[in-house]
Amino acid sequence: MQLGEAAKFLKLEPKLHKLLREPARIFKANLKIKLDNGKTKIFQAFRVQYNDARGPCKGGIRYHPEETLDTIKALAAWMTWKCAVVGIPYGGAKGGVVCNTKELSEKELERISRAYIRAFWKHLGPDQDVPAPDVYTSGKEMAWMLDEYEKIIGKKSPAMITGKPLALGGSLGRDSATGMGAVICIREAAKHLKIDLGKATAAVQGAGNVGGWTAKLLQQKFGTKIIAISDSKCAVYSEKGLDVEKVLAHKEKTGQLHNFPGTKCITNEQLLELKTDILVPAALENQITKDNAAKLKCKILAEAANGPATKDADAVLKKTKIFLIPDFLCNAGGVTVSYLEWVQNRTGYYWKLNEVNDKLDEVMTKAFWDVTNFAEKNKITMRVAAYVLAVQKVAEAMKLRGLA
Ligand code: GLU
Repeated sequence: MQLGEAAKFLKLEPKLHKLLREPARIFKANLKIKLDNGKTKIFQAFRVQYNDARGPCKGGIRYHPEETLDTIKALAAWMTWKCAVVGIPYGGAKGGVVCNTKELSEKELERISRAYIRAFWKHLGPDQDVPAPDVYTSGKEMAWMLDEYEKIIGKKSPAMITGKPLALGGSLGRDSATGMGAVICIREAAKHLKIDLGKATAAVQGAGNVGGWTAKLLQQKFGTKIIAISDSKCAVYSEKGLDVEKVLAHKEKTGQLHNFPGTKCITNEQLLELKTDILVPAALENQITKDNAAKLKCKILAEAANGPATKDADAVLKKTKIFLIPDFLCNAGGVTVSYLEWVQNRTGYYWKLNEVNDKLDEVMTKAFWDVTNFAEKNKITMRVAAYVLAVQKVAEAMKLRGLA
């Protein structure tokens, strides 16, 4: 974990370093859910509150069949660094339920979402811990969760969860926020490297919320040629470039990317190794490993997913000329607009889309240059620079509180 390198750089007291290595609190529950066939099934659920020195804990809830407590812990740590690096006043958390959404009905998903809140509601709240969507969850689950929470506490509390549908107090621009944040980072990186995005190519791994929006916005805003995009099964590739809107509409309609006219189907591994200016891993963790890191041919690696490169891969990437936008900087747009949603909920005053997007742009652009300038000045990698800046802020808050 790069925390060690950051701790060394900052000469952190061992006591403080030790505290930062472990989550503050871990909650677990077995959710007993009635399935549509009348049987009951137990689903394991977690919430990890990593650190709350800078503010209430913040982070998404994932529904994934291979979810583990260890992954959730790592993701909760990243949320802590993510909020710190962009300077929004939150700590970090993450939650998860071990389940396969593809095998569950709407009603079953609703029961799981409501049961999650019944299990953990005491530890959640606008000033305690604020969940949000993550892998395989969206506004729909947030709505059920908000409703369950408000029923339990007996009053409205829209700021207890973010990523809500607009009708329940969600923010304009939240849906596209993570992709938009990644695109802002790519725009700044391209300026830095003097790459013309209008003439550049990009390959995007993942066609979910983050990958879909990143690809769409790169194409719409800058005319970047998107040569490939993938889902968990395959990647569609076209040297001439894809019409992202049409590809995503095809996926929406048929449930798959496969067979999109005029494209070739390649594997996710092949997508990562394409010759392209920009590569955006926007799917799951551990996609870039020591085995394929040396084969990447991109100029900018924009880590829109959480933890797409393993630590071993990082050691290889370090030796290449690839400009890395590290994950918890690159994908901080989502939580930044979550913060703007929380502010709107607490004040009861709602901004227009361009106001939200302008605020997001300001936060992301500043964070990008803070990290880039710090990395260059200190001759350290972008990832280590992001860690140092983030850890420094969390450590300072802990010291001020007398926690270390
Ligand atoms: N799940 C998103 C992330 O990993 C958003 C978290 C949030 O909005 O709290 O950054």
